[in-house]
Amino acid sequence: MPTKLFGIDLRRIPQQQQQTDLKDSSGISITTLRRPSMDHIKRPALAALGKKTSDKKSKDRSSSNKRAVDVAPKPTSSKPVKLNMTMESPPILMMGTAQESSGALISGQLQITPLAGDVIMESIVMYLECTTTTKQPVQDRCRECMQQVSDLYEWNFIKKPMICVAEQGMQQLPFSHLIPGHIPATTHGQIGSLDYSLHVRAKSSDGLETEFRRELVVRRALRPGNDKNSVRIFPPTNLTLHVTLPSVVHPLGDFPVQCRMTGITSKREDTQTRWRLRKLTWRIEEKETMISPACTKHAAKVGGEGKGLAHQKDRDVGSQEMKAGWKTDFDDGQIEGEFVAAIESGHMPQCDVEAPNGLKISHVLVMELVIAEEWAPNKKPTQATPTGAARVLRTQFNLNVTDRAGMGISWDDEMPPAYEDVPASPPHYQNGHTFVRDYSAESLHGDVEDLTLNG
Ligand SMILES: [Zn+2]
Repeated sequence: MPTKLFGIDLRRIPQQQQQTDLKDSSGISITTLRRPSMDHIKRPALAALGKKTSDKKSKDRSSSNKRAVDVAPKPTSSKPVKLNMTMESPPILMMGTAQESSGALISGQLQITPLAGDVIMESIVMYLECTTTTKQPVQDRCRECMQQVSDLYEWNFIKKPMICVAEQGMQQLPFSHLIPGHIPATTHGQIGSLDYSLHVRAKSSDGLETEFRRELVVRRALRPGNDKNSVRIFPPTNLTLHVTLPSVVHPLGDFPVQCRMTGITSKREDTQTRWRLRKLTWRIEEKETMISPACTKHAAKVGGEGKGLAHQKDRDVGSQEMKAGWKTDFDDGQIEGEFVAAIESGHMPQCDVEAPNGLKISHVLVMELVIAEEWAPNKKPTQATPTGAARVLRTQFNLNVTDRAGMGISWDDEMPPAYEDVPASPPHYQNGHTFVRDYSAESLHGDVEDLTLNG
């Protein structure tokens, strides 16, 4: 009897399968796979609007799937299809600032290959995801506090069930999208990260889901412009520092800094006092701020939903100390020189970024000059005597750290230049950016070159 039953079962299953296959294949034409690519570009826009409400639960997407697999590891859970992707567009490079960039086009083919016979796909959806990660979550080890996923775009590849015929092998579904130019670039800071990915979820008629994820690196390059001239004064002295910097600098590679200090000599009838530059120190500081949001469960810890904890982390990503390398002309009353500064690659420097979620990274070049006063008769200016007075001057300059534009050409590069392309305005004085510390002979026990503002 059991063998008979067994025999019947064996015969019935293939029959049923055949019937469903026939029914489905008669209803759906394989041509749905070969849709012209423009078709799906329009459709997801509507779907994306509806998607916004489900943003909050979007972060559960992967975890819930994992749970389903963990709890019920059925022998039939082997994937019915294999997903893959080829990108046809070049690497994503936003040209210009968030305000001026026209975005970047992406295009590619989603590849779907049946693994075990013909498969009916119920839905094939792809999300352009932005993942924000904080290293300082409101609640330790809470995944929801640590990471937020939001969908920037959504593709629904099929309107109705689609058959993937095993004999035909891999099928390709084209996709394309213009990524808006204002989105912040991929960033891996000290306390916050921003990542983008294409996340595909394909569901077959038997309820099995296959996922695929492709990381997208979004870079931004500011177009180099005219060099920036800055002037700093150091009251109460007569000293004025002129500094010329490139309009943009890159995370890897060095850049020239031209300096000229005027007003170093004060002449009286028979004598003169003057400042001699003893030491010049520069360092590049990377400032990062991040607002760690709280998940709904831990919102009370930060005083309600929609609030977060602000974090800041500053670090030096390059520095040098110099005791020579400049030209001093006491007669003209000025010091001139040029040095090469660089961000050290070993620090994994980040480009400047400002994201709506609170992640911000910026850079400044801090310069510190140690000057010592000396006295000389006008008739014999080379016979100088130190007066014992010394000062430390400190000032800083904003740096625009950006990716290299390289050969990257914006998709709409035929656009005429914008008003923003007009050269920077003339230099202006920024008293608030300078700092002077005086030293007298009595307090100078050691070498003046050991002086620092930090002391
Ligand atoms: Zn939490």
